[in-house]
Amino acid sequence: MARRALVIGGSIAGLFAANALRRVGWDATVFERVGEPLSGRGAGIGTHGELIAALRRLEVPVDDTVGVRVATRICLDRSGRVTHRPPTPQLQSSWGRIYSLLKDALPAASYRPGMALERFEQDASGVTAMFSDGTRERGDLLVGADGIRSTVRELLWPEAQPRYAGYIAWRGMVDESAFPREIHRELFPCYAMCLPEGEMMLTYPVPGRDNDTRPGRRCYNLIWYRPTDYHSTLPELCTDAAGRCHGNSIPPPLLRPEVAARVRSDARALLAPQIAALMELVEPLFFQAIFDLESPRMARGRVALAGDAAFVARPHVGVGVTKAALDAESLARELGAAADVESALDAYDRSRRPFAKGLVARARRLGAYIEARLKPPAERTQSDRQPPPEFLLREIGAISLSRGELMG
Ligand SMILES: Cc1cc2nc3c(=O)[nH]c(=O)nc-3n(C[C@H](O)[C@H](O)[C@H](O)COP(=O)(O)OP(=O)(O)OC[C@H]3O[C@@H](n4cnc5c(N)ncnc54)[C@H](O)[C@@H]3O)c2cc1C
Repeated sequence: MARRALVIGGSIAGLFAANALRRVGWDATVFERVGEPLSGRGAGIGTHGELIAALRRLEVPVDDTVGVRVATRICLDRSGRVTHRPPTPQLQSSWGRIYSLLKDALPAASYRPGMALERFEQDASGVTAMFSDGTRERGDLLVGADGIRSTVRELLWPEAQPRYAGYIAWRGMVDESAFPREIHRELFPCYAMCLPEGEMMLTYPVPGRDNDTRPGRRCYNLIWYRPTDYHSTLPELCTDAAGRCHGNSIPPPLLRPEVAARVRSDARALLAPQIAALMELVEPLFFQAIFDLESPRMARGRVALAGDAAFVARPHVGVGVTKAALDAESLARELGAAADVESALDAYDRSRRPFAKGLVARARRLGAYIEARLKPPAERTQSDRQPPPEFLLREIGAISLSRGELMG
């Protein structure tokens, strides 16, 4: 009988893990806390060749519609002038596009929505997962793919907590059909950057809201990294019109209109006018606080962590989704090769942890100048200085995993 994996979390890492495990003969079931389909979480993502290769190895049908290609990066100054234009081919996709490819590859019965893990117990012969509705499930392996606030990690290593990076990312998309014509001609075919002092704005084309990549139906993705004090400003941004603070994030519909208006006004003051004009059209405008996270290990006994549950690198390396894919491949490979689950998970930890640690360190270095804006100027060090645009244009979201660039 096939060995059984209980995969906690039905987003990118969980779906990659379940698909990869099924290919090496495991029976893998995904348990996702959210009851409704997740496909509405629209956000653009940069990709790497390794992500597309990993999807192909899973025999997921990937073709040109997986994303939108750009050939060039540009940097715009505050006046809107293009100051740099290096040729940098890249493919941009969206969370929703990758999610639906992976979800469609899994039998419907293997995806159980509305199942929130509360705790688990493991012994020599298996793992039992307990869910909030009272359900218990038994398996040979449990995979915690439950994201940055992972319940599985919290139960294994409560001391491993996300560390706030000192800044947030304002995000949103503009429909291609809503683009002013002049701006479309100049910006839409490019990955653009605008670099006010201590900040970073990135824009690039991605699949449309229904994952359509045909011209006219695509979207343009905007991400603006801005220093934001954790104790004063962040709670204010996370407070809704009724005065309730939602922690360190807030559902987009509850963002107060005056907060959105302030961000758009800052965009007019600090960014190239073309990009400020697009900020007016972004719908919905939302933000995510940026964190670093490092777990002491990727596995303990019969329980493995994968994706953001294990390690979170700041998004400047643009590798979160690819890392989840490579975690899943490694997990399946080790389980296929080893005689028992524990030694497979030991090998998985040895293979993935140095990689993820290198990734976190590299992303931290790329974002150090944004984080440093909250320090008094006298306390800033050499590594807190803003790198030149040429460097950021070359390095942001553009590293090669196959050349081992993440190890340092
Ligand atoms: C601003 C920003 C920009 C980014 N840009 C890029 C990019 O360009 N390229 C890229 O590759 N990555 C990017 N990322 C990172 C990428 O989005 C993440 O790495 C990736 O989505 C993580 O997937 P995951 O499945 O590990 O976690 P998540 O997507 O967080 O999924 C975790 C899932 O687990 C479920 N869950 C949680 N707790 C439980 C429980 N107790 N029981 C059951 N289910 C549970 C949740 O509901 C959720 O569905 C970016 C991130 C940010 C913040």
